[in-house]
Amino acid sequence: MAKSDPVVIVIEDDPPIRRFLRTSLSTQGFTVFEADSGKQGIIEAGIRKPDLVILDLGLPDMDGVDVIKAIRRWSKLPIIILSARSSEQQKIDALDAGADDYLTKPFGFGELLARIRVALRHSINPQELSQTGEFATANLKVNLHNRVVSIDDQEIHLTPIQYRLLTVLIKNAGRVLTQQQILKEVWGPSYQENAHYLRIYMSQLRQKLEADPAQPKFLLTESGVGYRLKV
Ligand code: CA
Repeated sequence: MAKSDPVVIVIEDDPPIRRFLRTSLSTQGFTVFEADSGKQGIIEAGIRKPDLVILDLGLPDMDGVDVIKAIRRWSKLPIIILSARSSEQQKIDALDAGADDYLTKPFGFGELLARIRVALRHSINPQELSQTGEFATANLKVNLHNRVVSIDDQEIHLTPIQYRLLTVLIKNAGRVLTQQQILKEVWGPSYQENAHYLRIYMSQLRQKLEADPAQPKFLLTESGVGYRLKV
């Protein structure tokens, strides 16, 4: 990987986890810089020109959500958060503040690597998507230019709102979106309290696109947080 080694900043106050991340990411060809506080993390993110930030939400000096807000003032670089199992609201706040994805502790390194790959790909994907207009995952194919949706090459008719919901997920493919983010994109800012709309339309979309709507293969629920289109 030599010169193009992706640069990762790990912001985490727990030394064993930090060490684990540094060691495992280094062996995968990442250049790793570390910070043990939010303030130091923001400085590192500013000077190291990172490709990605891994951020623990439970930091000693400041709320991890405020670290995200600080970085988002000047950068769209992918941020993956690490969070304790019990704190769903904290995950939602972090995603709404602009984090790209989250992992719940304890997590496996394979899982982290997969999320990193998606997050790094995400930073170049939208351009490609707007050029070709083609999106495909599992047996789903969508052409955003002529608005054709098909499953196993059979065209599927979607209502305008179902289609809009699907395109919001496609434009963020691989990424977890909170209910609030989806409601805002599909229905507009004044509908952010209407989570039941989203449940209804997501269920309709699964009925039309998933072989078994009760066990979706790509229109995934992120329990207590939101939804993710699997890529
Ligand atoms: Ca911590």
